[in-house]
Amino acid sequence: MADNQVLTHVNLERQGFSKVASGKVREIYKLDEHTLLFIATDRISAYDVILANGIPGKGSLLTQLSAHWFDLIKSEMPELKTHMLTTALPSSVPSQLRLVLENRTMQVRRYPILPIESIVRGYITGSAWAEYKRAGTVNGMSMPEGLQESQRLEKPIWTPSTKAEAGMHDENISEARAAEIIGDDVAKMVEAASLKLYEMARDYAAARGILIADTKFEFGLDPATKEVVLVDEVLTPDSSRFWPADGYEVGRSQASYDKQYLRDWLTNSGNKGRDGVTMPEDVVKATTAKYREAYERLTGTTWR
Ligand code: ATP
Ligand code: MG
Repeated sequence: MADNQVLTHVNLERQGFSKVASGKVREIYKLDEHTLLFIATDRISAYDVILANGIPGKGSLLTQLSAHWFDLIKSEMPELKTHMLTTALPSSVPSQLRLVLENRTMQVRRYPILPIESIVRGYITGSAWAEYKRAGTVNGMSMPEGLQESQRLEKPIWTPSTKAEAGMHDENISEARAAEIIGDDVAKMVEAASLKLYEMARDYAAARGILIADTKFEFGLDPATKEVVLVDEVLTPDSSRFWPADGYEVGRSQASYDKQYLRDWLTNSGNKGRDGVTMPEDVVKATTAKYREAYERLTGTTWR
């Protein structure tokens, strides 16, 4: 597929694949009892609304970035099981679709998913900063006084949230509440794995000029061994806040590597939260450039 082409919709049902779910960005199909096919489209969402047009190549870029992290996790944290099998296209995908889907799919092992989002924060921003300003706490935990916006925390913190149904907002919860939902032992495993993953990724990214302010992981549970398994996409600009290290300054919000340009445009043009909005070409271009830069810095390779 040429680089300037955009894949916003794809449907494999006519080819006999059964659809498991359709997210804001990804389409998920069942390959067999134990295997799912994740397809990352070029759709982009902001403020919980999907834009009418996409970001060319975003789906393959995010898939390749996720795959890069899964490789790194395999070598740096071999004790942690992940769902990743391969980015190769299954042979059952018919030839007329192979070009379109190349590079944007992952075959993953299917697991029962734990019903919490496992968020780690190394810097105080977003909903954590909002809560701290209001109440001096983050997810109900007391925090040191006098923190400033975007300040690096002395130690990264685990701030789980609920996994809301489509169209609803996730809700931040305490560790105790997370332990009630998924069990004390499982919660401890998820917390430990998430903090270790974050620290590994933070150091890796910092050496490449990117600060990972916070990130969200999802875990499944292996029914046979009762181990927690890392699933979903990992450490992409869709699941994390990446900041350029060279522009970092405490006491204000940061220019981020993801949808900042898009969010600012939506707000300033009065389109925030509106359905079916089309991004103008300059917004598409600037957003594409940001995703690309994050990819290139993190992987050390040129994007296409
Ligand atoms: P959003 O668009 O807000 O991200 P979403 O999270 O429902 O919505 P996707 O991210 O596209 O949509 O879909 C991923 C879904 O697949 C999530 O519900 C996630 O929990 C689930 N999932 C991820 N990995 C696995 C796996 N290995 N086995 C089973 N389900 C998985
Ligand atoms: Mg998701």
